[in-house]
Amino acid sequence: MTSQEILALTDQYIMHTYGRSPIAVDHGEGARLYTPEGREYIDFTSGIGVSALGYGNPAWLDAINAQAKKLGHISNLFYTEPAAKLAEILCKRTGESCVFFANGGGEANEGMIKLARKYSFDKYGQGRATIITLQNSFHGRTITTLKATGQDVFHNYFFPFTEGFRYAEANDLDALKAAAGNDVCAVMVELVQGEGGVLPLDKDYVQAVEALCAEKDWLLLVDEVQTGVGRTGTLFAFQQYDILPDVASFAKGIAGGLPMSGILANEKCRNVLGPGTHATTFGANPVCAAAGLAVQETLDDAFLQEVQEKGAYLRNGIEALDLPCFGKTRGLGLMIGIAVKDGYTNKEISAKLAENGLLVLTAGPGIRLLPPLAVSKEEIDKGLAIMAETLKP
Ligand SMILES: *Cc1c(COP(=O)(O)O)cnc(C)c1O
Repeated sequence: MTSQEILALTDQYIMHTYGRSPIAVDHGEGARLYTPEGREYIDFTSGIGVSALGYGNPAWLDAINAQAKKLGHISNLFYTEPAAKLAEILCKRTGESCVFFANGGGEANEGMIKLARKYSFDKYGQGRATIITLQNSFHGRTITTLKATGQDVFHNYFFPFTEGFRYAEANDLDALKAAAGNDVCAVMVELVQGEGGVLPLDKDYVQAVEALCAEKDWLLLVDEVQTGVGRTGTLFAFQQYDILPDVASFAKGIAGGLPMSGILANEKCRNVLGPGTHATTFGANPVCAAAGLAVQETLDDAFLQEVQEKGAYLRNGIEALDLPCFGKTRGLGLMIGIAVKDGYTNKEISAKLAENGLLVLTAGPGIRLLPPLAVSKEEIDKGLAIMAETLKP
């Protein structure tokens, strides 16, 4: 099919819930994508932080092919090797104790919220179920995670929402204390707010939140759906903040392009969700878990170091272009936000870049870059050249 045919068929038969770019993607290689007609794009989106290894990574393909030939799916009423191994690696690399596997970020966060409420219920009974989240956060699109999201625009249409969430200004410990009460069971944060605009939390603040949670016996829940799996230059962002969350969720990059998510829980939380309290049919799918193992094998310390270096290289490159539409860059590793100056809009800038062969994301009022973690220096340079050519006056 031609691009035009794919666009027309999609618009006719798929619900119009996304603001899509008018680009049909046929295949990819490294950090480059190609239309059916062979037009090339440099991809600084990686499917919203999912395709960590880029496209067509041989180790990832081999792992998927080998596992799909053996066993494509089996329920969680049985045991499989790939999920067990992946859980072991995630625990050993983070210091957490155990994993629950699910399929998407919102679903993982639902599990994290359920765990926090049950932890508190088991210990203190009813009436201590409120979770404090931060202004500008994003936690998902289910009825509960929409309400957990600290942005009013998401609290619309779908009433009644799940009760039991309060919001506090980020990086302000007094605001968090002011939101506290006897009804609180947990605090939930993204260490770098992704959808909200790539806004990193302060390390001092995060460590103070961890201490406050320990003092009050609130669980510290960290949503690493976007920041996790090497995106920020460490396997999880919490490792750079020198904290150990009670529970951390992950999704996007975990299986390098196949749908998988989950939560990591520490020793205190390992037995909170017992048999019959939480489940999902597709969770821990062996093909996804085999893909996840290939991702973990690639993301060794040297690779993570390179993610930090490439992130700095890309940010410095953007700042050096000194483009009139861009302000300062921010972020961690290959999770990069660019401020857009007054008089320009992120939508208009991203559309112009796409026309010239560079795909970027928006977040809040800014531009967001989430290239594949395996992006090459040469691909970064090409992306920078397209930025210069498109946005220089
Ligand atoms: C993307 C994202 C989610 C939602 O994940 P889905 O897989 O779309 O359900 C939740 N939290 C954060 C921080 C995210 O970036």
